[in-house]
Amino acid sequence: MSEFEANSRPELVLQGISASQGIAYGPYFVYIQTDVEVPEYRVEKSRHAAEVARFEQALVTTRQQVQKIMSEVEKNLGEQEARIFDAHLLVLEDQALIAETLREFEKSQVNIETCFNRVAKRYIAAFEAIDDEYLRERGGDIRDVAQRVLANLLGRTSQRLSKLADKRIVVANDISPSDAASLDRSAALGIVTDSGSKTSHAVIVARSMKIPAVVGLRDLTGKVQPGDTLLVDGYEGLVILNPAETTLFRYGQIQRQKRTQEQRLLEASRLPAITLDGVPLTLRANVEKPDEAGLVKDYNADGVGLYRTEFLYLGADAMPTEEEQYSAYRELVQALAPAPVTIRTLDLGGDKPIASQAHLFPKEDNPFLGYRAIRFCLDHPDVFKVQLRAVLRASAHGKVLLMYPMISGRDEMRRANLVLEECKAELRAEGKVFDERIAVGSMIEIPSAAMTADLLAHECDFFSVGTNDLIQYLLAIDRVNDRIAHLYEPTHPSVLRTLRHIVVEAHRAGIKVSVCGEMAGDPIFTALLFGLGVDELSMTPPLIPAAKFILRNMKMTDAKLLAQTALAMDSAPLIHSLCAEFAAKRLTP
Ligand code: PEP
Ligand code: MG
Repeated sequence: MSEFEANSRPELVLQGISASQGIAYGPYFVYIQTDVEVPEYRVEKSRHAAEVARFEQALVTTRQQVQKIMSEVEKNLGEQEARIFDAHLLVLEDQALIAETLREFEKSQVNIETCFNRVAKRYIAAFEAIDDEYLRERGGDIRDVAQRVLANLLGRTSQRLSKLADKRIVVANDISPSDAASLDRSAALGIVTDSGSKTSHAVIVARSMKIPAVVGLRDLTGKVQPGDTLLVDGYEGLVILNPAETTLFRYGQIQRQKRTQEQRLLEASRLPAITLDGVPLTLRANVEKPDEAGLVKDYNADGVGLYRTEFLYLGADAMPTEEEQYSAYRELVQALAPAPVTIRTLDLGGDKPIASQAHLFPKEDNPFLGYRAIRFCLDHPDVFKVQLRAVLRASAHGKVLLMYPMISGRDEMRRANLVLEECKAELRAEGKVFDERIAVGSMIEIPSAAMTADLLAHECDFFSVGTNDLIQYLLAIDRVNDRIAHLYEPTHPSVLRTLRHIVVEAHRAGIKVSVCGEMAGDPIFTALLFGLGVDELSMTPPLIPAAKFILRNMKMTDAKLLAQTALAMDSAPLIHSLCAEFAAKRLTP
């Protein structure tokens, strides 16, 4: 049987993680990313200078190659996608990596590629051992670029995905960002991988190229056999091996519906966020980096409801200075003015330590109950004040709101505000301008803060509910433990009652409530949250069209009724079904 002939194996459905939306169907191509084999040999003393020169030349060549990829990606996909390769250029300029390679060379006297390979492997292993997805992916960047350097040192061209023979679904253990960027777009129907996460850079590239992708399939590469055909459902994160005729028919219908729906959603995102009975609502964006301002505007978000500033710190070699932070915040604030930007102070620690500052975050048995966020900041006023001063100074350039993560109650809020007042006094004395009336809010992520919302409200200008953490603490479900992920229920009656309590107490004190956890971006919960009285939702920008579409097709009176009914129910799955049905009716014509 040729590889192209369909075989008679039965249909097999595999669940992975949805990484890029869309449906693809066709034969597959297994891409095996193998490490370049590196020979080891001794180098005479007399050849040492030439060996070092060879290394320097390979770094220069690699740099040129990466820059070429960057300019192609920029041309085809845009500037933001091209920025992904900044991390690769940084690896090539990493003085510690270069110096360590040269030290290894002096010590071992073996060829430079062996030395570079040893050092790069140590770096990769160190990054991969860190319990943080973002930093683990930096390990992937080093691996990707190190393979290029080695291929150049050995005079080989590395295997790339740029020339697929015909239209195929790419099946791989993992795909590096440069592989994804050099992908033959006209031939790659879809991408499916054993490993990977929603936030890996390769997935970001796939998403921006609109190639359907499913990741985290564990051992798919071991399951496919010659002759298999694959259906990729990037909406639900499914891969169906050898789909039956009826499945193909069903997916044909789904694909037509989705296309019409996506078009309608995008059109709706350009219209005002107003319900059928005339109630205007606010949808804001969650961002991680200042250069996401373009995305915020593309999706017509009403400014930023959550700027997670820790990403400025996570990738850095040292704590970012006041000037560095000020310029990052100012960039975002100016780009979006007069729309507001809600800057959240550092949420580091626990499961998000900074590699360069490991000494500040000793290993803990219960990181989510540990030394993180505001607890760390109040313990390190030196670090906290640098950030607060930078945020205050940025507030002179547009509309800035400030909020603290992981506040447990009124006293902690007061302590944080005292540090803020100190910073204001310092800036006044230095003659530096800032918004004297800057709004300051508390995130509500800890049950104790929710239960004492009445006390806390008097110290705040607004609340922003972080449902990711609030649900984790209310239900005692570690949010990153996939063995208990099914128990993580946003519609648990305790969650609904808590949200309602927060809203009632906030409104009694005359302040607004935003929700910025993942629950806010799930269209199933748009009506429920607004019906519970929440004033604003903040979500990752591409989710805004669906939320806007729903609220433009619902009446506020119906959303309130939905919330009342849900509050009177006792079963999380039934409340979920009720909300899903409400959303489905508004999403389909
Ligand atoms: C949350 O907990 O819901 C939240 C928005 O914060 P993070 O996901 O960054 O912890
Ligand atoms: Mg949180």
